[in-house]
Amino acid sequence: MYEPPTPWHHCSVQQTFTAVDSQPEGLSAEEAKQRLHHQGPNKLPDPQKRSFITRFISQFNNLLIYVLLVVMVITGLLGHWLDTGVIAGVVLINAIIGFIQEGRAEEALKAIRSMLSPNAEVIRGGRQQTIAVENLVIGDIVLLQPGDRIPADLRLCRAKGLQVSEAILTGESVAVDKQSDPVGCQTELASRSSMAYSGTLVTHGLGTGIVVATGIDTELGQISELVSKVAPTDTPLLKQVASFGRWLTALILILATATFSFGVLIRDYPSTNMFLAAVSLAVAAIPEGLPAIMTITLAIGVERMARRQAVIRRLPAVETLGSVTVICTDKTGTLTRNEMTVRTIVTADNQYTLSGTGYNPHGFLMLNGQEIVPAPDSPITQAIRASVLCNDSTLSHKGQEWQIHGDPMEGALLVAGAKLGLDAENENHNYPRTDLIPFESEHRFMATLHHSHEGQAFIFLKGAPEQIIEMCHQQMTDAGPTHIQPDYWLGMIEQQAHDGQRLLAIAYSPTHYDQVELHFGDIGKQFIMLGLFGLIDPPREEAIEAVQACKEAGIRVKMITGDHALTARAIALQLGIINTDEALTGQQMDKLSEEALFELADHIDIYARVNPEHKMRLINTLQQHNHIVAMTGDGVNDAPALKRSDIGTAMGQNGTEAAKEASEMVLADDNFATITAAVEEGRAVYDNLQKAILFILPTNGGEALIILTAVLLGFQQLPLTPVQILWVNMITAVTLALSLAFEPKEKGIMQRPPRPTNHPLLNNHLIWRIGFVSVIIMIGTLGLFQWELGHNPSIERARTIAVNTLVMFEIFYLFNSRYILEPIFSRQAIVGNYYVLLAITLLCLFQLTFTYLPIMQVLFGTSAIEIMAWPRIIIIASSVFVLVEAEKAIMRRLRGKSTSNT
Ligand code: ATP
Repeated sequence: MYEPPTPWHHCSVQQTFTAVDSQPEGLSAEEAKQRLHHQGPNKLPDPQKRSFITRFISQFNNLLIYVLLVVMVITGLLGHWLDTGVIAGVVLINAIIGFIQEGRAEEALKAIRSMLSPNAEVIRGGRQQTIAVENLVIGDIVLLQPGDRIPADLRLCRAKGLQVSEAILTGESVAVDKQSDPVGCQTELASRSSMAYSGTLVTHGLGTGIVVATGIDTELGQISELVSKVAPTDTPLLKQVASFGRWLTALILILATATFSFGVLIRDYPSTNMFLAAVSLAVAAIPEGLPAIMTITLAIGVERMARRQAVIRRLPAVETLGSVTVICTDKTGTLTRNEMTVRTIVTADNQYTLSGTGYNPHGFLMLNGQEIVPAPDSPITQAIRASVLCNDSTLSHKGQEWQIHGDPMEGALLVAGAKLGLDAENENHNYPRTDLIPFESEHRFMATLHHSHEGQAFIFLKGAPEQIIEMCHQQMTDAGPTHIQPDYWLGMIEQQAHDGQRLLAIAYSPTHYDQVELHFGDIGKQFIMLGLFGLIDPPREEAIEAVQACKEAGIRVKMITGDHALTARAIALQLGIINTDEALTGQQMDKLSEEALFELADHIDIYARVNPEHKMRLINTLQQHNHIVAMTGDGVNDAPALKRSDIGTAMGQNGTEAAKEASEMVLADDNFATITAAVEEGRAVYDNLQKAILFILPTNGGEALIILTAVLLGFQQLPLTPVQILWVNMITAVTLALSLAFEPKEKGIMQRPPRPTNHPLLNNHLIWRIGFVSVIIMIGTLGLFQWELGHNPSIERARTIAVNTLVMFEIFYLFNSRYILEPIFSRQAIVGNYYVLLAITLLCLFQLTFTYLPIMQVLFGTSAIEIMAWPRIIIIASSVFVLVEAEKAIMRRLRGKSTSNT
């Protein structure tokens, strides 16, 4: 529809505007809406999703199913049609359950990913707005800053030191320079410096571009294989379990073959019977439900974290979170509220205070406790004017509510200006901005170039005070500029930082009227210091609690900030960060050798005036101390540190796309407390995985032992048939085991130390527990089976009782499994998980149909048992409950002894 006269990169900016029917003020809201309707949303088609059929078929791609299919064929050949049919049914049900669970897990992850859909800054109707990337249309004017992922194909109309990493398109990882002049018609993609392509990343500078292609029409949209890439969802633990499963299956097959040979060759049993015994053993011992339960436990964990505002981008993070030992966090906005207010302003002659709180621009200036109205050309007015002009934020209000757009610190300066009657729009009209050097945490200042209508030009400079003082040769006093007195300013800095105020210095320098561009080289020592602003940014209440929670949980919190060391210390003190006595600055870090830093890093908790490289060094050092480090970040330069840390944590609101993409986790609310919440959930997930395994494996162990013992002892009839075993495994996995995935967190979960990552999932105690319970189940079931058979020769009846005993054992054992070591004798422990009760009710209903429904009796070879058999079953099965609780009590006592000994 919008055809350029020549390729976009070759068009001039004006030609581009004409071709897309737009202008520098952007499209009107109405026009944009219409275009969106015609062009469709700016997104790539969803990655090729596996069709329902392929997803369903993939459920059969599993070693256990192969075993069952082979068994099915052989039973068919032997003429055991009923077994064949039931096995076929079980295979099908297994596939359906796997299918549904996988679908659920995928849906949950998809919903969570959509919480992260990116925004773009555009100009529409002459105003800057933030819109969802999906709503961009051809003709929109997009503003770019470092860390942005370019949202559509753009013809650049302005570029200021703009550099873009196009690795995703060209494979070239070094960022390329961009500019706005047209390039030759034949220029190849990688060299088209006048274009910025969708999906590439701004690494430096600022730019503005006109959207010329969206969605599938972009260069990225044309590369189809990139689009269909799906992120892997396996975690180390899942992989470990999968390999454990394969290993177990192989072992079981060998054991089953050995049993078969033993029965046929040594015991002289008929081979058909022995075949069924071997099959029973195989299906008994393989934990069919385990992988599905683990996936679903992880998915539920991810959902719970998302509800608490922590969005997991990579599934393995769920497991790692539980082992975090150090959280390195930013200060501003994460530990503090990022609601800034200018409290003090120091000039060369005076110290002023400013009243009022929040963004409401009502307040006044005070000197020595008296309200004053400063003269229009006084140093204080000049300082405030400069801070309003050297500023990229805007202040607006909706009714009584005042809002700022952009950096809250700059917003606070606008509010200060408004309190003195300096309106940003008006000031910018009188002193239009011609150029700027944007703020970056590496150089810690921002400069703007302005021209007045009276033939004057100025450079305004604002930034971290130590930096600004270095660039000044003079200071502004009531009597005009005089020689700078650095000691005076440094004293003031120390005084204000001591109170936890965030500091900012403002300076200016006159320049030639014909200067229209601003470069780094223009920023020398020529500036005149105007003033020092002290801003308050109170700590978040919830961060104070979260820091305390971390302390109890054995997690060290380290504050890593670009701010002044004294400010950082004051805030750390308010937050209760453990070691606030010492702070290390970036400059001091530069002077330290690796060994010296290694010595200090473990106990120093405050790092001030650091830049992203320092973050990287710190992570390396902490990891050498075997710490599992969670690190927060927001800027494009934080990406390497985020990648390097164990849990890279990006800010959802103020973070750049680059930071989010490098992270394992994104905080939707930028809040430190959310990290602690995620750690807590991470610990709970790990507990639940462990509980699920601890619950499932003894079932299989018990069943396998029953068959093995029966064969070894030479029983004429096996106590359980293969289809009955399959029934028990399936039905308990979807009810009882699944309910453990919903298990709420244990009480003292944040009062125990982090879990060492090198600890195996199953420690010796848990392996013992699995063996112990397997034996209890085996003795109880086998014993009752034999006893019943002795009183009534019906093998169907005795088997039905055996199956029900097995299931009942599991019901009792489920309660034990809710807590690994803690006792279960409390109301919370019995009724605390609603799903447990629901699962038990369902299971009891299933067992009644299994026992009394004629069709089930035919299919599973069961028979109706008399009412009086149930008390026996329940009494025998409850033994596991008592025995495991006794074992827990002994273990607790032993542990108590060993900890009091150490
Ligand atoms: P944190 O890493 O805890 O968020 P921070 O926000 O203080 O720390 P930076 O954003 O790197 O870290 O800021 C460092 C210093 O740079 C600030 O203390 C301030 O003096 C100065 N500064 C911050 N933002 C601006 C800005 N927009 N313009 C000029 N100077 C700024």
